[in-house]
Amino acid sequence: MNSPKMTLINKGIALKLLKRVDVLSESQSLALDIGGSLAKIIYFQPDGARRTTEKTDGIPKLCIDYLDPKREGSSLSVRVPELNGTLHFFCFETRNIEDCIKFISEHYRQNGKEKRRVRATGGGSYKYDKLFSEVGVELIKLDEMRCTVAGLTFLLTHFDHEVFSFLYPDGTLPPPGLPESAPALAECRRFVDARPDPFPYLLVHIGSGVSIVKVTGHGKFERVSGSTIGGGTFWGLCRLLTNCKTFDEIIELTKEGNNERVDMLVGDIYGGDYSKIGLGAGVIASSFGKVTMRKEPPPTFSNLRKAWRRVVCGTFWLWCDFMLNIPILGHFLRRLGLDKHLRSRIANIHFGKIFRAEDVALSLLRMISYNIGQIGYLNAKRYDLPKIYFGGNFIRDHPYTIASISYAVHFWSNGQTQALFLLHDGYLGALGAFLGGESTISENSYSEL
Ligand code: ADP
Repeated sequence: MNSPKMTLINKGIALKLLKRVDVLSESQSLALDIGGSLAKIIYFQPDGARRTTEKTDGIPKLCIDYLDPKREGSSLSVRVPELNGTLHFFCFETRNIEDCIKFISEHYRQNGKEKRRVRATGGGSYKYDKLFSEVGVELIKLDEMRCTVAGLTFLLTHFDHEVFSFLYPDGTLPPPGLPESAPALAECRRFVDARPDPFPYLLVHIGSGVSIVKVTGHGKFERVSGSTIGGGTFWGLCRLLTNCKTFDEIIELTKEGNNERVDMLVGDIYGGDYSKIGLGAGVIASSFGKVTMRKEPPPTFSNLRKAWRRVVCGTFWLWCDFMLNIPILGHFLRRLGLDKHLRSRIANIHFGKIFRAEDVALSLLRMISYNIGQIGYLNAKRYDLPKIYFGGNFIRDHPYTIASISYAVHFWSNGQTQALFLLHDGYLGALGAFLGGESTISENSYSEL
């Protein structure tokens, strides 16, 4: 398996990849998980599939020809010997799903009255069912929870280089405190080998919302809890609080952040450790609490000058943002890298110099990750489960998210419960749908369509 990396790709690339899929003759090879925020796609490429230039009635055959992981962003491709082929994973924002359907319709060739059938899960498989149907694709709808659990169990039982805990090489826990360099944290993945019987376990799936599922065997599971505070909350609040336009921008910002500038720490209250109950000075007492501790500056001329400077600078950055949105000019400025140069300034427009978007983003990330880690731990304790697997695209392999969740589980369980993560964290549902809702590969699960 290739080394992990962020897997969200832009619409253009997603459509380019879809273009290579023959929805007519290869529908068995495609599975969709259309969620509230993201649409996840799995494409199965049989061994020996070749580049093809073949045309039928002047229309290029849409058979997948060649997926180059490096070129197309499908870096999570994995070869499955049992299937004699490779699974490719890619995803894009659900709000673009209509482009994807339009694309399929444009490349659809009538083949009698027969509809092509594609396995799909997630709420979008119901919501967009009619649109797919209009272009001749029938979605075979599979239960989302069943597929998510099946996808995870399949990964746990088949791949050695998939599941990992997050620890320093000496076995200690990386601190969730100040950010370290991402590559150093990437070295903290300690992979766990596949095992035939990974049960029982708890799955905490962090998509737009959070689902918590107890799994006791193949196909045996129960959704025992959940939370409305999930990935959608993080991304939604980031959009309200900063000027960031994409999730990736926010994730980049968190790497520059210092949450101690906005979070109230034990040390801010006690002036040091609260040793009687074992809380160090650096432990967060209240997420965003420091914002309330800030005194309003007195109305002096010097402060007025600073406020004026903020207004002038803010207006200038807003104009830059405006120019980046002008069709041709914006494209040209982006090619010059102006957007990257301005990213944090534009993100900071709302805050002036009082707080930084970087710190706010990291504080939010920590707040939500800790909360989910804690709820996960409480449910693991409730059912006496020693292992919790965290999945969903909120994680997207971001080391700070993983470090924060790991820390929360370790902190609350006193090191008794293990937090585990996955390289393919966002694709559990799509993988389960590809396998027909089964966690094992059987003749039936694969050739049912
Ligand atoms: P769902 O099935 O509900 O869409 P996912 O597992 O796909 O759930 O996770 C959605 C969450 O992933 C979002 O709420 C957000 O926190 C995070 N996310 C990761 N990448 C993106 C992105 N490019 N755009 C929007 N959200 C993203």
